[in-house]
Amino acid sequence: MKQTAPLPPHNWPVFQPGWVWLCGAGPGDAGLLTLHGLNALQQADVIVYDALVNADILGWANPDAEQVFAGKRGGQVSAKQGDISQMLVELAQDGKRVLRLKGGDPFVFGRGAEEGQTLKSAGIPFRILPGISAGIGGLAYAGIPVTHGAMNQSVTFVSGHDAKGAVSPLNWQAISDGSPVLVLYMAMKHIGRIGKALRDAGRPADEPVAVVSGASTPDQRVLETTLERVVADIETHKMTAPAIICVGPVVALRDLLT
Ligand code: SAH
Repeated sequence: MKQTAPLPPHNWPVFQPGWVWLCGAGPGDAGLLTLHGLNALQQADVIVYDALVNADILGWANPDAEQVFAGKRGGQVSAKQGDISQMLVELAQDGKRVLRLKGGDPFVFGRGAEEGQTLKSAGIPFRILPGISAGIGGLAYAGIPVTHGAMNQSVTFVSGHDAKGAVSPLNWQAISDGSPVLVLYMAMKHIGRIGKALRDAGRPADEPVAVVSGASTPDQRVLETTLERVVADIETHKMTAPAIICVGPVVALRDLLT
């Protein structure tokens, strides 16, 4: 098998035919792929990848590998989740080494668990290769730490919408009371309602908020705003998805860390 780039010496797992590896590709910057991810790319027969996976990463694949786009972006469902899971099952049953490559971490709002369940019930062996999630690594590229010892002892990761696309039916009061820092994924559509829910729960109007779009990519843009102004500022500055929104005092550390 052709090797695209040498890996450092290590007891690298061998990708067996008929297996699926569910792998996180990180938030954007190709350098945030793990070495396990690179090892997987070099051995896979077929790579089923998402919209948010950096093309450079795909360039590191075994040149003989088949590449299948299974992108889903913000409601525009170009491939249904059930179809993707079924495709993974069928490819594995064909005896392929199937690499399922996802943005960020597969188990953080990434449907990795759902795909793993389908594989398990079909009797397909699989392995999880974690990745750097946008809500941690992507914010770090914007100079925002999700924790600071003097500021917060907890952080809550929230999806801005539920499985049907509606605003997440969460107890916003409890979330607001329980966590000084919130990291919101997929929240651009409903940020107005989420911001209001947090304001109603007692979070101050001038609470720092950052919107980081295209985090860790050459298109990265960072908007620093407040709970009160976030909707208007997103509009004014034409911030677009994919974006991570961080609410809380750690946002203000950006000035010190960038
Ligand atoms: N599994 C992924 C998240 C998938 S959900 C992870 O762990 O990162 C998709 C959401 O992730 C987007 O709506 C956005 O909120 C966030 N996201 C992913 N990549 C991003 C990036 N490069 N910049 C900003 N947000 C990103």
